[in-house]
Amino acid sequence: MTGTKGPHSRQIASTMAGIIEIKNGMKPQVGRTSRALIKAIVLPTVVFVLSVFTLLEKNVAAMAETDKPVVSGARVAGDADRTRFVLDMDSQVEPSISGLASPYRLIIDLPEVEFSIPEGAGDNGRGLVRDWRYGLFAAGKSRIVMDLTGPVSVDNTFFLPAVDAQPARLVVDLVSATPSQFASFVKRSREAGQESEKMTGTKSDRLVPPADDDKPLIVLDPGHGGIDTGATGVAGTLEKAIVLDFASLLKDKLDESGLYDVRLTREDDTFISLKRRVEIGHELEADLFISIHADSVRRGRKFARGATVYTLSDKASDQLAEDLAESENMSDVIAGVELDDEPAEVTDILLDLARRETRSFSVYFAKILVNELKSAVRLINNPHRSAGFRVLKAHDVPSVLVELGYLSNQHDEKLLTSEEWRERMANAVAESIHGFFRPRLARKQVTPSQ
Ligand SMILES: [Zn+2]
Repeated sequence: MTGTKGPHSRQIASTMAGIIEIKNGMKPQVGRTSRALIKAIVLPTVVFVLSVFTLLEKNVAAMAETDKPVVSGARVAGDADRTRFVLDMDSQVEPSISGLASPYRLIIDLPEVEFSIPEGAGDNGRGLVRDWRYGLFAAGKSRIVMDLTGPVSVDNTFFLPAVDAQPARLVVDLVSATPSQFASFVKRSREAGQESEKMTGTKSDRLVPPADDDKPLIVLDPGHGGIDTGATGVAGTLEKAIVLDFASLLKDKLDESGLYDVRLTREDDTFISLKRRVEIGHELEADLFISIHADSVRRGRKFARGATVYTLSDKASDQLAEDLAESENMSDVIAGVELDDEPAEVTDILLDLARRETRSFSVYFAKILVNELKSAVRLINNPHRSAGFRVLKAHDVPSVLVELGYLSNQHDEKLLTSEEWRERMANAVAESIHGFFRPRLARKQVTPSQ
């Protein structure tokens, strides 16, 4: 029913549904049989009526700026026994609620909505909710992730339709629970999630295969995105935004050369899991994978600044690298993605050889890159470092992670947002890529010398 949210359809939807009650998280509780009935009779009717309206409103809808439901307010109230989370909305949506442990989190998935709430609204929670964040999780899907102070159970979830001046509200009531109660909630919500995914048939992210096999394929990976904002600068710059800008600029430069096939792991403000990023490089059989970041450092290292190039290693080169990898590897936890168990160390000798070769190519590229950056921008001391970054783990794709600078440093933040600096940085990275592929491109030259 997406894309059918004209004013009429909204009215119909809210009149029909009234108050939807959802118990123990997950789907609205209307009983198994009645749910089946709704699916069989009511839903097709609603869909039909809505599509008629959609047809009628086609022209109007085309002109409308956005037809996404808008979240205009959010609050948390209550105490450590009982906490209520409220979202003000302009139309009714159906939430899907699930949980994840270690650390305890509650996840509210919604169809794509527009969050029109003050920045930092979720920084301070209350009662059972320590803090919360929100954003686009995937195409057509928005997500709220709450960090909980401990195990909870979802006591009640309901939607109050708009009345007079009051906006419609989505209400989620949490009560404190035991770890085992939370564990069974997690299990149930996971099963429900898999079920609904099966029913809706999630869109597969099919990748466009390389157009020209002769061209080296480069994957640029702007870090974070959507619900995972990454670091926030002293002046409020968001890491997810500047790394996307930088990756797009770099892609333009590489495209101009006509020498490469360049892909981005994300082209908008969408969340992509670390595992998916690695898969994209692997599936495209990329020749080079560059993850782009601009983090913030903890533990009082406010003065750390300058660009850094990281490669993968089992043991971190130093404490800063270890801390950074740890915070980068948190991306999936932040977005409420279930972590896969680390695959057991594969002992296959061929795979091991491939991995070694890939690692030495990664280090080789890192060295070229550092050399190129040296003459262009300020670098941190020991600019080539290493640690266990999950995003660099493709065994067959040479991969590096570039920290453009540190958003925790105000001077770096100023540079990262300056047009002139970004030009210089992008030119230097492009130059190092030319250097890395020069031997291969030279071999491919068919034009004989005069
Ligand atoms: Zn980052």
